[in-house]
Amino acid sequence: MKTWRMLQKESFTKLSDLTTYLELTQDNLELVDFSPHFPCLVPRRLAEKIPKNCLTHPMARQFVPLKEEKWESPDFIEDPLCEQGGVRVTPSLLHKYDGRLLLIATGACAMHCRYCFRQHFSYQSEDKSFTQELDYIRQNPTLHEVILSGGDPLSLSDDHLENLLMHLDQIDHLQVIRFHSRFPIGIPERITDELLTILKRLKKQIVFVVHINCADEYDEEVTQALRKLTALSIPVLTQSVLLKGVNDSALALKALSLASISRGILPYYLHKLDKIRGAAHFEVGENEGIALIKELRKQVPGYAVPQFVAEYPKERSKTPLIVLQN
Ligand SMILES: *Cc1c(COP(=O)(O)O)cnc(C)c1O
Ligand code: SF4
Repeated sequence: MKTWRMLQKESFTKLSDLTTYLELTQDNLELVDFSPHFPCLVPRRLAEKIPKNCLTHPMARQFVPLKEEKWESPDFIEDPLCEQGGVRVTPSLLHKYDGRLLLIATGACAMHCRYCFRQHFSYQSEDKSFTQELDYIRQNPTLHEVILSGGDPLSLSDDHLENLLMHLDQIDHLQVIRFHSRFPIGIPERITDELLTILKRLKKQIVFVVHINCADEYDEEVTQALRKLTALSIPVLTQSVLLKGVNDSALALKALSLASISRGILPYYLHKLDKIRGAAHFEVGENEGIALIKELRKQVPGYAVPQFVAEYPKERSKTPLIVLQN
């Protein structure tokens, strides 16, 4: 069996290899951006889910760099969330909300999603011991939760991850350690027995938020990997981004929600796209999003409806876009 590191090395990083694999014909080749500012990175299993010579499929739209990324739109900028500003309390910590903060554990990911809101983020720190970060967390007793994000925290080696988790586990005021990861979708083999052993040893409650945008991303291996987490009493929740041509229909959102709950996974957030430069072609209007959620609510149980939210620079929490009214 191949290790996750081997699978990671087999991912498509050269666009010409990917376009050959996808058997793109000339008209489609002309749509591809062969010099994207955010490099191509597509694990084999995701490329396998893209139908041949088809760039309109949700899996293709998420991962194949298109010339549309070069569209300039004045309100789509490099740092719409002002994450490089005051909320960045150490090179790898974003402390924006009360009680919880986000640790950018690494800049690396299993895949590069073309709409990524951190595609222009400058990942300054490669200090895998997180000394400054751990000090800040220890000195802030108001914190009850640390969110390991990135990049993707599961890009860290088990050794680095174990070291970080063991330190966090010893901080009394922390109650929950949350992962935000897309690894199980691109390389589910990352959920190794070694990783599960590390997680099992922690005293703190773990919560796992898997980033997934359409039902096609689930398959047998992905499901098995996530089940290994739920088997440890780790709640697995989903986070998605509403993306044009990927999941902007009631049908697609319904398929995703039902695919999740049938696996014991609960929808958490559906994010409105952050206005990041290079992602303007993914935008879905806010009112359209609200209408989609209202339609979804009619078709699936209440617990399968994600909260439709946006993130704004100065707000103290995510902003729900559906306010309770008649
Ligand atoms: C989204 C986010 C969180 C977590 O918010 P929740 O509503 O608790 O999921 C924390 N910190 C930052 C900087 C975030 O962007
Ligand atoms: S996995 Fe997340 S952080 Fe990484 S490229 Fe995709 S959206 Fe961005």
